[in-house]
Amino acid sequence: MIRFEDLEEKVQRYHPEADLELLRKAYVFSAREHKGQIRLSGEPYLSHPLKVAHILAEMKLDVACVSVGLLHDVVEDTLTSLDTIREYFGEDIAHLVDGVTKISQIQFASRQEKQAENFRKLLLAMVDDIRVILVKLADRLHNLNTLQYLPAEKRKMIAQETLDIYVPIAHRLGMAKLRGELEDLAFQYLNPGAFQNISAQVEKRRANSHEFSQEVMKAMQERFREQNIEAEMKSRIKGIYSTYKKMKRQEISIDQVYDFNAIRVLVNSVRDCYTVLGIVNNMWKPIPRRIKDFIASPLSNRYQSLHTTVIGHDGHPFELQIRTHEMNQVAEKGIAAHWKYKEGKLEEDKDDKRFQWLRQLLEWQHEVKDPHQFLSNLKIDLYPEEVYPLTPKGEVITLPRGSTTVDFAYAIHTEVGNKSVGARVNGRIVPLKYRVSNGDIIEIVTSSEAHPRRDWLNDVKSSRARSAIRRWINVKQKEEAIEMGRKLLETNARSYKLNLKSYKDKLESMLPDFNVSQMEDLFARIGFGKISPRQVLKKLEPSKVEEQEGEESGTSRVTQMVNKVLRRSDTAIQVNGYDDLLVYRAQCCNPIRGEEIIGYITTGRGISVHSVDCPSVEKLLLNPEWKVQVKWTEDGKKGIYPIRLLISTEDRTGILADVTSAVSQIDTNIVNVNAQTVDDRYGVIDMTVEISDIHHLEDIMDCLKAIEGVREVERATTRAKERRRG
Ligand code: MN
Repeated sequence: MIRFEDLEEKVQRYHPEADLELLRKAYVFSAREHKGQIRLSGEPYLSHPLKVAHILAEMKLDVACVSVGLLHDVVEDTLTSLDTIREYFGEDIAHLVDGVTKISQIQFASRQEKQAENFRKLLLAMVDDIRVILVKLADRLHNLNTLQYLPAEKRKMIAQETLDIYVPIAHRLGMAKLRGELEDLAFQYLNPGAFQNISAQVEKRRANSHEFSQEVMKAMQERFREQNIEAEMKSRIKGIYSTYKKMKRQEISIDQVYDFNAIRVLVNSVRDCYTVLGIVNNMWKPIPRRIKDFIASPLSNRYQSLHTTVIGHDGHPFELQIRTHEMNQVAEKGIAAHWKYKEGKLEEDKDDKRFQWLRQLLEWQHEVKDPHQFLSNLKIDLYPEEVYPLTPKGEVITLPRGSTTVDFAYAIHTEVGNKSVGARVNGRIVPLKYRVSNGDIIEIVTSSEAHPRRDWLNDVKSSRARSAIRRWINVKQKEEAIEMGRKLLETNARSYKLNLKSYKDKLESMLPDFNVSQMEDLFARIGFGKISPRQVLKKLEPSKVEEQEGEESGTSRVTQMVNKVLRRSDTAIQVNGYDDLLVYRAQCCNPIRGEEIIGYITTGRGISVHSVDCPSVEKLLLNPEWKVQVKWTEDGKKGIYPIRLLISTEDRTGILADVTSAVSQIDTNIVNVNAQTVDDRYGVIDMTVEISDIHHLEDIMDCLKAIEGVREVERATTRAKERRRG
């Protein structure tokens, strides 16, 4: 077991000013909280947080991060609450511990590559501080090191999860060493046979390779000096898992893994690159066709380098990568290109930039002398456009940020969306409008009776949900319009004494005249009020329709004229998205300019516009998908609206005269007035006045209420009449 003093010393070495007080406090706290807990290995639990902190110190991270390594399991595995951590260590440390606890609680189950990718994004999206991920990676590294104490089943699961989730994250962060360690440890549990086989072969070469590389680099350095070339060199030996993957993919033996041992040479100029290539190919025997010039022809990701594989004096091949420092930077950035994408190109670029920036930060962090506070106050939001909730089975769903549970339901399946009535988020019932967060576990509640609602469109964010809702509404509306259109046409035909059935063929041949190709479409157009039944019948049998109309009296002609006028759309009202539909003010409430209004699609009659206070609105709300947004046009002419007022009065002589004169005084035309006595003491004046807008109406009502003996003034609506009757 590592001693705390070792950790303290290590931190002090790379960070002399570090707040060791904090580190010690974290150690004492962790030791106290984990006291008595034993790991499956038989060691005291404390050995784990100590080792994790040690790994973080090895990565030369700031003291807050190393302290969180000590505290990372306290909230999850002991009775200590986050509040206690906050109380002892402050907001910053508590926030980090909370982040580690949260991402540890998410279980990854799927084996699909796409799911692994979403899961990685979910983890990264859930943290707003990269140190949380670093602690988690260190935690995972130590857990893998002690995996043998877990049951076989669990071992495999954790190993697979490491390869699917944590290895790619370490890779993207440019942490090559950590990545290799994680890979090899995971491989050991997933495929013990292959691991043993390959590792035996690798180990046999490893010691030699290291010594060999040192010799080779020394020899090269001497030659470079003679030629006045300044070169920086690094060597690396391929990991076990990475060697295995290459052998398997290319079906080759370990001797043919030419880059098993690789040396990178960084120089100052392109000319130097070619000079170095000449030198090394002279020193050792190059393998034919293994010389590659990616400087003359760069790869599509702008990777530039010279590659050559030569046979060393012991007969083992090794690879040389020769490039300028500048080319090396591009190559390092290119790491991101390995991450698998399924999204569009744009997203890929954005993603790359974010990770480039993160990798740079992690690199700088090693370079600065005082890493204190370097990583803190640094908030990341890697995927600001997206949100990643989960199904109860642990499948990650990708949605646009701001999505609701309705979006989630449609992402599962269109039918789930269409039948959804509510949702359970993390076990709690929420309304469908609930906006989902990263890591939310969502279960959609459905009902076979349910159907999409038009107002969902106001809240959904995903195009999938939006178009599915629109599609459903369009289909439903069309169905109802067809039904309505058919009935309207039949009823009208009967009134003209026509039997529609006998005109079936003729009607069908006339369909192109109405710009439709099917009967149903014709009915739909009638149903939506775009064509009148009379128009159709007149075309079908002009003589009969005209004859019938001629027989009707003069008054009915006037009625027809009036109807024609009434059927003209009310231009004072504006409807979004339904330009070609008839708009009229509902007679039940007769809304006037300035009032709050609401529109409903009524099959066959266009859009009826009600005042929001109208009693019929309540009934109509049962079918909210028919609701449409309407508003008064801003530049529209002020209309003249006849409004009926009911004025309750005391039965006093001269009150009718007072009322009529008051109204006339504010330039208002009285269309009709009628006074009645209800009993000995009360009367009602029923008066229709012409008003221009809601303010005008308010003025009249105020002035009426001011008259002595007037008890109440009401606008006549269906409800007002009912109340008066009752
Ligand atoms: Mn842990």
